[in-house]
Order: sequence, then C-alpha cells, then structure tokens
Amino acid sequence: MEYVDVDVAVIGGGQSGLATAHALLRRGLRPVVLEASDRAAGSWPRYYDSLTLFSPARYSSLPGMPFPGADRARYPHRDEVVAYLTAYSGRLDAEIRTGCRVTGVHRTDGGFEVELEDGRLSARAVVAASGTFGRPHRPALPGLEAFAGRVVHAADYHSPASFSGGRVVVVGAGNSAVQIAAELAETTRVTLATRGPVKFAAQRVLGRDLHFWTVRTGLDAAPLGRLLPRPPAQPVLDDGRYRAALAAGQPDRRPLFDGADGTKLVWSDGQREEADAIVLATGYRPDLPYLAGLDGALDADRNPRHREGLATGVPGLAFVGLEWQRSLSSNSLRGVGRDAERIARRLAARLARR
Ligand SMILES: Cc1cc2nc3c(=O)[nH]c(=O)nc-3n(C[C@H](O)[C@H](O)[C@H](O)COP(=O)(O)OP(=O)(O)OC[C@H]3O[C@@H](n4cnc5c(N)ncnc54)[C@H](O)[C@@H]3O)c2cc1C
Repeated sequence: MEYVDVDVAVIGGGQSGLATAHALLRRGLRPVVLEASDRAAGSWPRYYDSLTLFSPARYSSLPGMPFPGADRARYPHRDEVVAYLTAYSGRLDAEIRTGCRVTGVHRTDGGFEVELEDGRLSARAVVAASGTFGRPHRPALPGLEAFAGRVVHAADYHSPASFSGGRVVVVGAGNSAVQIAAELAETTRVTLATRGPVKFAAQRVLGRDLHFWTVRTGLDAAPLGRLLPRPPAQPVLDDGRYRAALAAGQPDRRPLFDGADGTKLVWSDGQREEADAIVLATGYRPDLPYLAGLDGALDADRNPRHREGLATGVPGLAFVGLEWQRSLSSNSLRGVGRDAERIARRLAARLARR
C-alpha cells in the first residue's frame, strides 16, 4: 500500500476536476486528480448517443484551451466534448490517476487521508468534483414499484434501438426528458408524463444564441446561488423542434400516472393502458458517498454542506461543479472554470497560512 503526500486531492476527472487542477497549478499548488473510470473525460462518454451540447462551441470552453473548430456557433456532439476533455487533461501538467476510485476521506492532523480502492494518500486539502451522474434521482412515483414492465433511468438510456415498437412513457419535464421522448417518438409511441406543463426557453433570441444574452447581461456569472434554497428547474432549451413535436403529439404529454397494475399504467383520468417501458428522466443528485464518514461534510439528504463551494463544516474541503454552486453557469463547461479559480484561490490562501 503506497502513501503519497500531495497538496490537493481532486476527486473526479471530469471538466470540474480538470478545471480545478488547472486553477491549482496556476497558484503553484500540486494537485493529484483521482478518476474512477479509465479516462479523464468525466461522464460525457456515458451520455446518450445523439447528445449535442445546448451551448454553442463558443460558450463551451474551459480556462486555457478554447473548444476547437472553426464554426464557433455550432452545437458540438458529445464525442467532441470527450475528445476536448481528453486533450485538455493531456495538456495539464498534473498527475491524473485513472482507474482510481476514492472510497473514503478522513481528517488527520495535517489535513486528510484519502482512501482509495487499492491504497490511500494524504492531502492537505480535498476538492470533491465527482459530479452527479453516479447518483440518478429516482423519485417515489405512484405505482412505480408495482409496474411490471421495464424501468430505466435516463442515465442508462443510450439510443432508441432497444425500445423500438414498444409503448414508452418518459417521466420528467427537463431537457433530457423532452429530448429523449422526442427521439423515441420517431420510432415508437411515446408519452411524456409530467407533474405540470413543460416550460421552454428559446435557444435563439433576437438572432443570437441565448448564451450570448445570459453572458452579455451578467446573468451567467451573477452570484445568485447562495440566495436559492435549492436549484430551480431549468426550462427546456428549444430551437422550435421540441415544441413542434409536442404540438404534433409525438410525444404527447399527460399528467403523471396515478398508479400501475402489472404492465398497465393508470392515468389520472382513470384510463388503464399497457406500457412496455418507463424512462425516468428525473435528474441527478451530488454523488459523494466517499464523504459519508466525514463529520459535517454532508446533510441528511447526502447533499454537500457548503457556501459557494467551500464546505461549511470541514475546513480544507471544497466542492466544484455543483448545480448553482455560485451561479447559473456553475455546472457548465463555460462556467465551471470561474468557480474552480475561486476555490483554488481560497485553498491556496488557507494552505499558505498553515
Ligand atoms: C445529458 C446532459 C447534457 C448536458 N449538456 C450540457 C451542455 O450542453 N453544456 C454544458 O456546459 N453543460 C452540459 N451539461 C452539464 C455538465 O456540463 C455535465 O453534466 C458535466 O459532465 C459535469 O461535469 P463534472 O466534471 O462536474 O461531472 P462529471 O462529468 O460527472 O465527472 C465526474 C467524474 O468523477 C468521477 N468520479 C465519481 N465518483 C468518483 C470517485 N469516488 N472517485 C474517483 N472518481 C469519481 C466520475 O467517473 C466522472 O469522471 C449536461 C449534463 C447532462 C447530464
């Protein structure tokens, strides 16, 4: 079992962990990035096959390396993001350990001991940047337990191939729900089941992508996160195709079902209908099981206790990449670097004092 001393252990080798390592290096600190999977590209390789960014290339860069390609207005495909992050991690002058899952973090006199599946290391500070994709949210829906058909979370959805010809109900009203439902509806019968109406935001406003306006007005970076008790629901970004699909009934939208009986769903109007599969596009929560044993790090719902990314109960611990950690763009390619920079500054000041 090896025992290595580092300045900062960064847990997670996605955009958040990589941007954090970049910011720490700029401040002369020595980070090590610990990534559970076999490459440092975050969860992007596992997102569904047809995914294109909702942010144009121009608004999808991390600090220090522009998103590549001559067409800055295009919406890059998932695989371009994987290639971009892989190249970004290759350029970082930091130790990045892949295939290295963190299983626990404990306080020591000098900082922390970080427990790995096959060893441990000691670090003066820890940044948790492990995203949300490993903790899909599965709400307790009426009848879901009783449903005898297939139930899949959007985290495990890749393409329509395995649903072809079946009757599918997609639960959720966010971007993933609407995108997946519209994609499935090209080859099968789909209902989008939501608690309320789907809210849309126009992808383009006055001839410009919406991101131009959120950046130009300052909304993108405004530190509103601390004012919000919980992240608000995001509207579905739409260039018109999703509204049109719903208006055409492909998919149709219905209020959430009331229950299930075998492979039949019971709709709120009493109708009972056979369904083959339910896709839960019901979001994600911060995935931090390795902090469960660290007193004061998490609340009762296993969410981080923090203020703008700095842990409130554990000095020397920070988070990067949380939704609304500080601003609207905190958990985006374009915005995470700003938060990473602030966290690096605060940790560098703390370590310099000790
Ligand atoms: C479907 C979808 C579409 C999106 N589209 C956009 C978009 O268009 N534009 C945009 O800017 N943002 C988009 N986002 C939001 C955000 O940019 C992504 O979710 C992004 O992947 C978040 O990066 P991250 O580094 O915080 O987390 P992740 O990408 O999830 O990376 C976390 C990493 O931590 C690793 N990890 C987890 N636990 C451990 C552990 N215990 N030990 C070691 N490593 C661990 C994981 O293997 C993973 O590599 C989208 C999100 C989703 C879900």
